[in-house]
This record gives sequence, structure tokens and C-alpha cells, in this order.
Amino acid sequence: MPELAVQGGTPVRNTLLPYGRQSIDDEDIATVVKVLRSDWLTTGPAVNEFENVFAERVGSKHAVAVSSGTAALHTAAFAAGIYKGDEVIVPAITFAATANCVLYQGGTPVFADVNSDTLLIDPQSVEACITPRTRAVIAVDYAGQPAPYRELQAICDRHGLTLIADASHALGGTCHGKPVGSLAKLNTFSFHPVKHITTGEGGMITTDDAELVRRMRAFRNHGISADHHERRLTGEWFYAMRELGFNYRITDLQCALGLSQLHRLPDWIERRRRIAAQYDYAFSDLEELVPLQTMNNVEHAYHLYVIRLNLENLNCDRNEFFQALRAEGIGVNVHYIPVYLHPYYEKKLGYKPGLCPTAEAAFNRILSLPIFPGMKEEDIEDTIHAVRKVAAAYSRIKASVC
Ligand SMILES: *Cc1c(COP(=O)(O)O)cnc(C)c1O
Repeated sequence: MPELAVQGGTPVRNTLLPYGRQSIDDEDIATVVKVLRSDWLTTGPAVNEFENVFAERVGSKHAVAVSSGTAALHTAAFAAGIYKGDEVIVPAITFAATANCVLYQGGTPVFADVNSDTLLIDPQSVEACITPRTRAVIAVDYAGQPAPYRELQAICDRHGLTLIADASHALGGTCHGKPVGSLAKLNTFSFHPVKHITTGEGGMITTDDAELVRRMRAFRNHGISADHHERRLTGEWFYAMRELGFNYRITDLQCALGLSQLHRLPDWIERRRRIAAQYDYAFSDLEELVPLQTMNNVEHAYHLYVIRLNLENLNCDRNEFFQALRAEGIGVNVHYIPVYLHPYYEKKLGYKPGLCPTAEAAFNRILSLPIFPGMKEEDIEDTIHAVRKVAAAYSRIKASVC
């Protein structure tokens, strides 16, 4: 039996393989340099162009670019009319920003449980969370698999709720043949470097609703409206702040990078799917772990590749498995701790453990493996080798799975 690196053995690799990483080429760099030499560093033509190309790519009428995925969520929560006292249903397993945007608007996040096989928000749990104060549902396309939008839309229609998609993980995915970005009333994206395309920091909201677009464009610019009719009447100097907005503007440098990146998205999605298929195949005979389930009505965008440990077949817990893989040089991660178990939610806001039992049980057995377009074949092989090595070392059921 090979000795684990965590116990003093030789690691599978000597450098840590990250779980995600951006791909930047010379063309990306040249496009950004071109903007640096131009007249517009912010609020210029690259912003509009990025918005237009992005909207078309995801089959939506409009897109509004902002400074981060978190700003996109806040802007969407504002556009959905979330105010003080409103409840918004969010999945327990997601990045904290999905729930935080409700708090920014003075609302209350209500956590729905997730499906144990997909970790997507469970429509039955959503229905059970609805009260007279519920205004909206934010679904998350966890790991890159679109949420069950048909069921969620039906629930929202029955109760008069706005459906928002936090699609930060799923650019390039589809559900029932429709692209992610056109599946909910408001759809948000992040362009953080670990996501499908990057602008350094950046985000986008897509919608078919022109009135919401008008309000969101004002919101990202302090709530200042660019009403041309009014300007003509009162003089060119006039501008009016009508709502409390923020500075959530994105620069032209970032949007030029985003546009350049968008051209390579189809290749990158293809690459992510191939890596996932290699992992699926390599782990299919293991009884120590199982990948998440993919529904057959979706095309997965694989922001993450998540495995679930079968703890009953292992002599270790998730944290030991995690440490062992890290020691082998594999940069695994955990996505995510249920949001309400963060100290802020538990200690300051009073959310209690036990709220979403499926999410909590899943959290104790999940690990995200490295997946990004720039991964080399050796990186994939190292990851497979390390996972099998650690599973074999902690296995309760077989002498060797290596
Ligand atoms: C990345 C991410 C965000 C936040 O995006 P930022 O661009 O980092 O602000 C929000 N929700 C989910 C699910 C994410 O993965």
C-alpha cells in the first residue's frame, strides 16, 4: 500500500494544483492595452459592447455589467423590489453573497434545503418556506448544473414571487435546451478569476425587462438617472439622483478583457466537460465516493467537480480526506458550508444549526476537485491518482483500489 504524503510518504506532486485558475492569452492582453491607450477607461464603448455580446450569447434581451458578482446580486435584489421586512428564499449551500444581497436590501434570507444528489435547491423545500412576506426566490446553479427552473418558475407563478438565478457557476450551461442567462426574470453572473470567464473582478445581470434595466443602470451609478428628455428640458448639466444607488460601475479595461474571454467560452466549456467525463470514468468503480448527479434535461457547465464521500465506507472524515489530498499536492476545496452556519449568520442573526438537514449532511462529505480549462493531462492524472490513493488508504471495504 503506498504511504500517504500526510503520513510522511512521497506526495503525488510537489507543487499544489489549484482547484480553479484563469486562462489569459496574448490577445486578452493586447485588448486591454488598446483600451488603456483610448479615451475611455470607464463607462465607455467597451461596456456597451460587452453587454450586447453577452446578452446575445445567453439568449437574453438585455445585460447590465457591474463591478462584481456580488454587486450583480445586490442590483438584482434591488430590481426585484426587495425591501425591509421582505423574505427571500435561497439555498442553504451556496457562496454567502447569494444570501448577503438580501441583507443589503434589509430583507431576510430564508434557507431552503437542497437535493442530496445534486445539491441544487429543492423545490419542495422552497414551497414549505413560503410565507405572506416572501417576495422572491434566488436559485443557484450549483457547480454549474442549472437549477430545476421549470418547477421553481411554477411555484413562483403560483405565489406571485420573482425568480432570480444566481448563475455564477453556470455560464455556458443549458436547461431544457435554453441557455443559462435566459432562465429566470433576473440572472446574475460573476467574472472572478475562478469562474468561466474573467474580468479580474466583475459581474453581469441579464433580463428581458427594459424597465428593470433602466432601474439597474441607475442603481450601479448612485441611483442617478440618465433621462435625456429631462436633460433637454433643464439643460445639459442636469442629473437627478432618485434612488439610493451605489458605485457598482465596471471599467472599460475589464469589459474589453471580458469580451476577449467570451470568444473562447465554447472551447473552455468543452474542456471542462471532458475533464469531468475523465473523472466520472476514473471514479466509477469506487465505493468510497460518488460524484454529484447530473440531470438529463441539462447541459452542465462544470464550474466545480464535486465528489461526495461515502463516509460509511471510509475510516476518515471529510477533513482528513481533504488534508490527505492537500498533502498529495491536490488543491481540493469545500463548496460550501451552509450559509447560516457562518458565525455572522449564527451568532449575529440567530440562525440555528439543524435548519436544513440534507445540506448539513452533504456539507460533511463534499470535496471539490481541480477543474479548469488550462489543466494538463498530467494534472488530471495526478488528481485521479491522488484521489484513488487516499480512498484506498482510508477504505474500510477493500484491500486496495489503486
Ligand atoms: C462567485 C460567486 C458569487 C460572487 O461573485 P463575486 O464576483 O466574487 O462577487 C456569488 N454567488 C456565487 C454562487 C458565486 O460562486
